[in-house]
Amino acid sequence: MPDLPASIVDARRLLPSVDRLLRHPLLQAAVERYGHKLSLRMVRDELASAREGATLEAVTEEALARAVLERLSRWTRPRARAVFNLTGTVIHTNLGRALLSEPAIEALGRVARAPVALEYDLEDGGRGDRDALVEALLCELTGAEAATVVNNNAAAVVLTLGALGAGREAIVSRGELIEIGGAFRMPDIMAAAGCRLREVGTTNRTHPRDYRDAINQETGLLVKVHASNYAIEGFTSTLSEREMAEIAHAAGLPLVVDLGSGALIDLADFGLPHEALPRDAILDGADVVTFSGDKLLGGPQAGIIVGRRDCIERIKRHPLKRALRLDKLVLAALEATLRHYRDDDHLERTLPTLRLLCRDEGSIRATGERLLARLGNDLDARFEGFNIELAACMSQLGSGSLPVDRLPSHALVWRPRAERREERERALRRLEAQMRGLERPVIGRLKEGALWLDLRCLEEGDEAAFIDQLARPTGTEGLR
Ligand SMILES: *Cc1c(COP(=O)(O)O)cnc(C)c1O
Repeated sequence: MPDLPASIVDARRLLPSVDRLLRHPLLQAAVERYGHKLSLRMVRDELASAREGATLEAVTEEALARAVLERLSRWTRPRARAVFNLTGTVIHTNLGRALLSEPAIEALGRVARAPVALEYDLEDGGRGDRDALVEALLCELTGAEAATVVNNNAAAVVLTLGALGAGREAIVSRGELIEIGGAFRMPDIMAAAGCRLREVGTTNRTHPRDYRDAINQETGLLVKVHASNYAIEGFTSTLSEREMAEIAHAAGLPLVVDLGSGALIDLADFGLPHEALPRDAILDGADVVTFSGDKLLGGPQAGIIVGRRDCIERIKRHPLKRALRLDKLVLAALEATLRHYRDDDHLERTLPTLRLLCRDEGSIRATGERLLARLGNDLDARFEGFNIELAACMSQLGSGSLPVDRLPSHALVWRPRAERREERERALRRLEAQMRGLERPVIGRLKEGALWLDLRCLEEGDEAAFIDQLARPTGTEGLR
C-alpha cells in the first residue's frame, strides 16, 4: 500500500513483533491459563487489527497486551452464560424457564459420565424402551394409563395431532386458536401435523351444539387448548373437559387437551393461583393430555404426553416420535424432577421454580433492604444520576401460565434524575446496557421511566455475587 501517510507507516514499524508481545509480562499468566496456541492466535489478531490503522496513534505495548487479555477473556467466555433474572417473570422462556433441583442436576451429571441402561432392560437383558424411565412415574402422578415424552410441548402437540388426526379434521374453538410466541400458532401446528383445522364457535363463546354440528365423516378428533397466556373475560362461554369428552366419545372420537403448563400438584395448596392439573383432565375424560416439562412442573425442557393406552401406542408408533425423542440427559433430569412429586414432603423448598413462586413478600423486601444497606454508597458512586429505591411491584409466573395472576414482590428501582425526557431515556438505555454487560448480566424490566429489578428471583445464596459485581468499578469485568 504505497499511499499510506508517513506517520502510519512509522507507527506500524513501531508495533512489537508477535514473539515480543507474547512475552509481555502481563501475558505470562494468560499463556499459562489459556495455553500457548490460543494466546498466540489472539496476539496475532490484535497486532493485525492494530496494523489496520484505527488504533495506530501511539499504541503502547502495555495497551496491546491488555487488549489481548480482553480478547482472550471474550473468546473463552461461554455463550450460554448465567444471568440474574430480575425481570419479575419467574418462568421466563427467553431465560431458559425452570431451574432444576439439585437431585435433577446430579442426575444429569451421573448419566453424562457413564453409560446408562437407556434402552436396555436390566431384568432380562433384552432391548428396552427409553420412555420406561419416566412412564410409570407419569402414570402414577396423572392417573393416566400410559405416557410418552418428547422434545417439548409443541412437539407433543404436533405428534399427537399427527398420530391421531392426520388427513382428517380437528375441531377447535375459535376462542382457543392461540399463538404463544416463538411461532407456535395453533392453525400452523395443525397444518404441520397434517390435520385440517375446523374452527367452531366465536372468540368469546363456544357452545356444545357448535361441536356437535361440526362433527362429520371427516372428523378425526376434538381438541381443547388451555388458555394460558391470555384471558378472555366478560361475556364468555366455553365447554369443560367433561362436556367436550362426552360429545367426542358419543361420536367415537378422541379428545386431546393441550394443557400448556400443567402443574402436577394443586398450586392453591401453596397459596398460588390454581392451575389445571393433567390428573383432572384425565378424570374428566380427556383421551390424551399434553404439557411442558419446564414450565410449572419445574423440570427440563420436555413435552409430556399422557392418556389412554391405545392412543399413546399410536403416538409412539408415529415416525416423528423417533425424531422428537428425548436424550438421556433430559430423561434423567425429568425422572429426578418427577420423583420429587412422588416422594418429597417439601416441594416448595426442593423445586427451585416452586420455591421462587412461593417466596413471600417479606423475604423479598428483606433482600432489598440488605442490598441497599450493603451497596448504598457504592451505588451512588457507580450509578451517578439515578435515584435508587426499594418499591413494591408484582411478579408474574410466566411462560404461558396464568396470565392474570400476579404475585406481590419488591424491586430495586433505578430512576434517572435528568430534567429532560430524552436525557432520562438515554441514561436508562445506558444503564440497561451496563447491567447487561456485567460478568453475570443483570436483566431487569423498563417500566414507567425507570429500570425495575424485581428481587423475587434473587435468592440469599446469590446475594453476595450480585453485590460484589455491582460494587466493583466499571471496566474490570473483562480482565477478571
Ligand atoms: C407453552 C405452551 C405450549 C408450548 O410448549 P413448549 O414446551 O414451549 O413447546 C403449547 N401450548 C400451550 C397452551 C402452552 O401454554
